[in-house]
Amino acid sequence: TVKVGVLGLQGAVREHIRALEASGAEAVVVKNTEQLVDVDGLIIPGGESTTIRRLIDKYEFMESLREFAASGKPMFGTCAGLILLAKSIEGYKEPHIGVMDIQVERNSFGRQKESFEANIDIVGIADQFPAVFIRAPHIVSAGENVEILAKHNGRIVVAREGQFLGCSFHPELTNDTRFTDYFINMVKIARVY
Ligand code: GLN
Repeated sequence: TVKVGVLGLQGAVREHIRALEASGAEAVVVKNTEQLVDVDGLIIPGGESTTIRRLIDKYEFMESLREFAASGKPMFGTCAGLILLAKSIEGYKEPHIGVMDIQVERNSFGRQKESFEANIDIVGIADQFPAVFIRAPHIVSAGENVEILAKHNGRIVVAREGQFLGCSFHPELTNDTRFTDYFINMVKIARVY
């Protein structure tokens, strides 16, 4: 089995651990940088991107996260995690981790609908996946090496760039294992080579 870490600073950490275990992976809450050496892939959870960023700085995680990305190991950002991976954030001068070639916009699905669920078709991952959006970002634009895997209301909500996978919503909040299975499979394949 593969070992997948979930960055455990803030947000939906336990929910991802539960989802990973339900999909048969070994899951660890990553609370210090040394633990990163030990995992084959990493999930950056949803929550509040500005809070997670503040804690990344406080606990001096940034360099290790960028090294993890540079090592080629798979990383999966959900919601706030997607914002953390993006190379560009609308309205901000600097990105956070800044490794995935996408521009994102925060809280971009409107005020009345702070949260909603929609069934969406995701290329290569799932048809009719129950996607839970909570004050969700969307991907405004993506570089040429980024595969657009799903849109909702014309907006990009799932994308992959090689080792990086990102989505606007919270796959770990449903019992549908297909999205987590897909990431675990990315981790398995990456580990072989
Ligand atoms: N709105 C949050 C942010 O900007 C993301 C919300 C979420 O992760 N559910 O970080």
